Amino acid sequence: LVIGIPRETYPEEKRVATVPEVVEKLIKLGFAVTVESGAGDAANFSDDSYRAAGAQIAESAAQVWATADIMFKVRAPNAQELAQIREGTTLISFIWPAQNPELMQQLAAKKVTVLAIDALPRQLSRAQKMDALTSMAGISGYRAVIEAANAFGRFFNGQITAAGKIPPAKVFIAGAGVAGLAAIGTAANLGAIVRANDTRPEVADQVKSLGGEFVKVDYEEEGSGGGGYAKVMSEGFQQAQREMYAKQAREADIIITTALIPGKPAPKLITAEMVQSMKPGSVIVDMAGEQGGNCELTVPGEAVVRHGVTIIGYTDLPSRLAKQSSTLYASNLLRLTEELCKTKDGNINVNMDDDAIRGLTVIKNGEITWPAPPIKMP
Ligand code: NAD
Repeated sequence: LVIGIPRETYPEEKRVATVPEVVEKLIKLGFAVTVESGAGDAANFSDDSYRAAGAQIAESAAQVWATADIMFKVRAPNAQELAQIREGTTLISFIWPAQNPELMQQLAAKKVTVLAIDALPRQLSRAQKMDALTSMAGISGYRAVIEAANAFGRFFNGQITAAGKIPPAKVFIAGAGVAGLAAIGTAANLGAIVRANDTRPEVADQVKSLGGEFVKVDYEEEGSGGGGYAKVMSEGFQQAQREMYAKQAREADIIITTALIPGKPAPKLITAEMVQSMKPGSVIVDMAGEQGGNCELTVPGEAVVRHGVTIIGYTDLPSRLAKQSSTLYASNLLRLTEELCKTKDGNINVNMDDDAIRGLTVIKNGEITWPAPPIKMP
């Protein structure tokens, strides 16, 4: 079968769904690979590098859609791409079926099979190698610190120089999931003093192991909502948390927020008042912008200055590190392809008896199969 890689069409999207190194491995699995000319340009992968890896280069997206049996994409297809998708195609991409019911109907009408990489059952340890949510969140956490450092007017690390003593920057991280932990590690490596909070107290040890200090909310309440995710906390907890965050905001030079609750708007953790209490020149990076933001003053997709504080609400952090994110994404899709092609003969079997494959198959031959039934864990 032919795997097709079109150039991403979403505005400013710099990632590409596979990279030359992975093309070679896909070919070893028995597939042919067709890449649209220029698809990797923004991530620094040239047509020649794909060609050298054994891919065919197609002059247009239309040519890729017309010839490929399996399409690898990063972003869900837009209307123009939908119009070109052929019956029987297997599409592997981020889809977010819960947020995109209309797209799901349109794809089903095209009688295709769709594997939504965001619907992977992450609780299966076997699925970790395919977990693009985790690889992208790790990159976002790293990049959030880099964006903060870029907007901040001082060093992160403390220094004693002939010109005087410079204190280390104080970084506070709200939410210590995958992205938050990556941010903690990156900021600690740059030499900052890092503190972090999460409603799930079990992350305290991970925070510590990355060089951060876990700050607890002084209120007894279990924060886990199942499956390793958070839940909406009681009003009493939220009040106590606001008091603690207000104190951290006064002391911190940089705040990075990553707090999310599955299926709910992002919890508002940083109020306008807290922003106002921060030192001029401080920086907030709010990674929850697409879900409404953790900070009241965030403008999703933009960097704004409010009360002398730079508030960064970029929603394209992985795309800002396009070479790295494309490489990890490509590797996640390669692992998935290996699961689909155990025979290594260039064919795929979407095996609905396999929990991992069942979970991410949201449309099978035109029939909507999302959401998958819950997995019974031993
Ligand atoms: P996420 O992006 O949904 O949320 C980010 C973090 O925000 C979470 O740690 C959450 O507890 C925290 N949070 C939510 N509300 C908050 C609030 N009001 N105040 C402070 N913090 C708040 O989560 P994620 O990064 O995708 O991962 C969540 C968990 O799932 C992690 O423990 C991760 O290790 C786990 N996980 C497990 C697997 C696996 O088992 N294979 C794979 C991926 C993730």
